[in-house]
Amino acid sequence: MKYTSIMVRFGELSTKGKNKKDFVNMLARNIKHALKSFISLTYDVLYDHIYVNLHDEDYEPILNILKDISGIQALSLVIKIESDIELIKKTALMLMKESEGKTFKVTCKRSNKRFPLISDEIIRQVAPVILKNTTFKVDVHKPDIKLAIEVRDEGTYLSTKTVLASGGYPIGVAGKAVMMLSGGIDSPVATYLLMKRGVIVECIHFASPPYTSEAVIDKLTDILHELNRYQYKIRLHIVPFTKIQTKIYEVADESYAITIMRRMMYRLANALADKLNCLAIANGESIGQVASQTLDSMGVIEKVASLPIIRPLAVMDKLDIIKIAKQINTYDISIRPYEDCCTIFAPKNPKTKPRLHEVLFYEEKFDFASLIKEALDKIKVITIN
Ligand code: ATP
Ligand code: MG
Repeated sequence: MKYTSIMVRFGELSTKGKNKKDFVNMLARNIKHALKSFISLTYDVLYDHIYVNLHDEDYEPILNILKDISGIQALSLVIKIESDIELIKKTALMLMKESEGKTFKVTCKRSNKRFPLISDEIIRQVAPVILKNTTFKVDVHKPDIKLAIEVRDEGTYLSTKTVLASGGYPIGVAGKAVMMLSGGIDSPVATYLLMKRGVIVECIHFASPPYTSEAVIDKLTDILHELNRYQYKIRLHIVPFTKIQTKIYEVADESYAITIMRRMMYRLANALADKLNCLAIANGESIGQVASQTLDSMGVIEKVASLPIIRPLAVMDKLDIIKIAKQINTYDISIRPYEDCCTIFAPKNPKTKPRLHEVLFYEEKFDFASLIKEALDKIKVITIN
């Protein structure tokens, strides 16, 4: 059977009322961009779904790309025909003959009110043809095959194959955020989850050469190539962090080094976010994972930021985080051995309940503002697409 189109459905969007039009247009734009190499495709952007018309293209690679686009709930392979009941019956039978299973159910939606039969009548005409000419039995509760018929003004669409896509909101509808990307397992997962909420991500990485190797950057670009499936152009802002980090260890008690270091990271992320018109800062922190991620620590650390801090993994178990990392292909890259700035400088007894007045006492001992300014001026940007 030759499918003529792929129907793109967007469940979550239906709740969005008057914003829906913007959402649909944004999704359509993202879809067209992702499929731009398939030049023969055409698109019908409708209020409640989008049709990608195949014009003889093979549907499989297209379906594969669509499955990862945020904001798509499900995808159906459809055949478009003229709205004629005999043709509908014939095509329905053909589709069912090619389907595997024992039971089926016919559903029908009729938005073309000029079509002479109402949905129920269409079902009552189509189902007997299938019962008579195949071995399928009706099961209205758990059918193996759902034959969906949709009679629209521009024609009738039939489908038997629907695959679930990844859900979420179209990327771009929720503004931009600066994402702190470390190259571990967590932050790529947090990045993915943020993208799925429609947020465009600008990545920031704090690099401490020579204590951290250049290999980290390769690792990050590999990770971002995987994440390109969800956001087609990702910028990685690499901040030289060595000077700040060494200074912290000079002036502060070791047990406070991580707290202060993370406050510096947040300050830098906040400054970059302001510069790039981002509305939030995000990271891969998870409550209790390490000393700097207790609620006490988080409170003292995030005081330096004026923007909202989004922690997509805040309440997730490591095993669940790993599961997602495997799904999105970042896990194997993340576990490649490397040194990050935290492991190298890791103090033996980091504070789990840092005190703000102590933090401020150490921070007053050096001119961190000018170091931050210098680091911001020396940011290097890599664009991955
Ligand atoms: P990940 O959390 O990505 O697995 P990690 O566990 O080594 O890496 P943590 O020390 O737990 O990182 O830091 C918590 C979060 O802080 C990270 O998820 C990341 O968002 C951010 N972060 C840590 N180090 C860096 C860094 N060098 N550059 C950018 N962000 C960082
Ligand atoms: Mg972590």
